[in-house]
Amino acid sequence: MVDLNKDIQYLKGIGPNRKLLFNRLGIYTINDLITYFPRGYEDRSLFKTISELVEGDAVCVKVETTSKVRSIRTRNKLMIYKLLVKDNTGVITCIWFNNKYVENIKAEHEYIMYGKVTRQGSELVITQPEYEELNANNKTGRIVPVYSLTEKMNQNILRKEISIALDEVIKDIEETMPEYILEQYDLADIKFALQNIHFPEKDESFFYARYRLVFEELLHLQLMLLLLKNGVKNREKGIVFKNVSTDEILNQLAFTLTNAQTRVLEEIFKDMESDKCMNRLLQGDVGSGKTIVAGISMFKAVKNGYQCVLMAPTAILAAQHYDTLKNIYVSIGVKCGLLIGSTPKKEKEKILEDLKNGNIDILIGTHAIIEDNVVFKNLGLVITDEQHRFGVRQRSKLSAKAQNVDILIMTATPIPRTLGLILYGDMDISVIDELPPGRKKIDTFAITKDKEERLNKFIVKNVQEGKQVYIVCALIEESESIIAKSLNERYEYYSSVLNGCRIAVLHGRMKNTEKTAVMNDFKNGDIDVLISTTVIEVGVDVPNATLMVIENAERFGLAQLHQLRGRVGRGSDKSYCILKYDSSSILVKQRMNVMEKTNNGFEISEKDLELRGPGDFFGVNQHGLPDFKIANLFTDMNVLKIVQEIAFKILSKDKNLEAEENALLKKAIYMKYKGKLEL
Ligand code: ADP
Ligand code: MG
Repeated sequence: MVDLNKDIQYLKGIGPNRKLLFNRLGIYTINDLITYFPRGYEDRSLFKTISELVEGDAVCVKVETTSKVRSIRTRNKLMIYKLLVKDNTGVITCIWFNNKYVENIKAEHEYIMYGKVTRQGSELVITQPEYEELNANNKTGRIVPVYSLTEKMNQNILRKEISIALDEVIKDIEETMPEYILEQYDLADIKFALQNIHFPEKDESFFYARYRLVFEELLHLQLMLLLLKNGVKNREKGIVFKNVSTDEILNQLAFTLTNAQTRVLEEIFKDMESDKCMNRLLQGDVGSGKTIVAGISMFKAVKNGYQCVLMAPTAILAAQHYDTLKNIYVSIGVKCGLLIGSTPKKEKEKILEDLKNGNIDILIGTHAIIEDNVVFKNLGLVITDEQHRFGVRQRSKLSAKAQNVDILIMTATPIPRTLGLILYGDMDISVIDELPPGRKKIDTFAITKDKEERLNKFIVKNVQEGKQVYIVCALIEESESIIAKSLNERYEYYSSVLNGCRIAVLHGRMKNTEKTAVMNDFKNGDIDVLISTTVIEVGVDVPNATLMVIENAERFGLAQLHQLRGRVGRGSDKSYCILKYDSSSILVKQRMNVMEKTNNGFEISEKDLELRGPGDFFGVNQHGLPDFKIANLFTDMNVLKIVQEIAFKILSKDKNLEAEENALLKKAIYMKYKGKLEL
């Protein structure tokens, strides 16, 4: 029996040099190799004859070479290789560039060529075809896997070695999925799955194989996250905070807490008072009042003699949290400090000093807080706001800094349950599902360009009534010069149509001092119309702003539009959100319609996920989702849903996966997530 963890060098055809090429792809063991899944497939099951070839086709032809390749050096030192091949119906030239390996192609020999037909002048050619010698052994007429490669590695080597490895080990591969699950959910067995994910006999076998592997990958992940939540976390001893009265801080508030706020505070307090580390996610729609929940939680920690940190994704938001909370804390003797990128050096040093000797109870800032060499005297509670913006990396960095402290993460992006279970599957979740009383619905209208003039009049009318306006543009904050140019163009446009309005521009690449100055002017009412990028998405609180215009709304995710919209409707006046869109796509219309119809963030996020899929839901690179070997959340959402239910079911009967029937699952999960699940 072959050990799957054996080094790949054990395989025929892999020597010390070639081994390094495999290593570069992350393939070290035989197991790595056979679970290096294709990124796609080419259908070579249909051969064409040369006379049938049409420009633009990707084709597979069975040919005979007429000679060896001819090489031609071009003036710019490019090597071109040409080879005339024939079959019973005609001849065609194959062309390769800078690929001297093709010199090995034998003359007057039968090959299978696979490539794209293009036109060169009046002649059709096959460019850069892959080739395979025709012999009794080769499995032609099949669906061929295509793998991700690095330099010097090619498809043929990978295919061959994977095929060799499978031939060698397939009979010894043991089933990793419990029998009862295979049966109940009609899954392919592991041997079939591995064989057919690489070399499917036909389409159906591929789908059957892939379904099983996706199912397994997602099930393992989900079980791991749930185990982590139920088991390992419980072993981490945390601070036991004492129950203290919160009347002192509650008396400072101009309002009473909503029922939802009171409920989540109870959940948080229960975690804080237990001897386990809190690891909780607080979800609450924009404006649901998360800040004060954070404020009261920190108050409790401070009364217990501990320091706290509140991190926000932007300096604007951090400063705003600071303003809000400082006013409450000052009269009850809680000392807090603000630390952001633009904090002057002197001030910063003083803050660091005060933190070290315990003169500051609460530090509020951007994530610069965890980058810097900030030393606490006695850190007990870390709260991060709008967590998804930090991504995964910062999250782990944070836990390194703050071991055994209680952690609360707040997010206003309502995450659909399915995704939440993956992104935050290891956390407990609290939800504020109620807005403070008296909030008015923000009337939302989606409009196209032909209504622009009416909109501009509406903007002017609002300003004349003393209200303020946001205009948000869909610009990626890529380079300062591009942003500045596009915003300037918008500025010129609006200056020419909004008579008598004071207009300013704001974007994320401006200097912090400039940003703060503009924001202050807007807050003080010295600016009527603020044209900005999405920097204002989070945390800006100007109750007098009652109109939000979003340009190219079709380019935003619905969750983000909802978040942006939450910047208005903060005062007692009726507020509006106008979505300008420029597209005739039905999907866009549907999405705009969702925004017009509902003000409920959770509903919106579910719809967004349904209409666009998870990739777009969070925006590229920001999603914080784990890497998958084969599953694709965009296309496999339905499998994820099924699997999540199964994971809950399994663990509700067998909390720690100790039952005999789940032994295989347990083994596989512990192998895969060694570092994470130490028991
Ligand atoms: P978010 O959840 O979006 O962070 P905030 O914490 O910024 O919301 O709260 C939005 C506004 O609602 C703030 O002005 C805050 O003072 C106010 N607020 C919070 N809780 C209540 C409440 N229970 N009653 C009335 N107003 C509240
Ligand atoms: Mg907030």
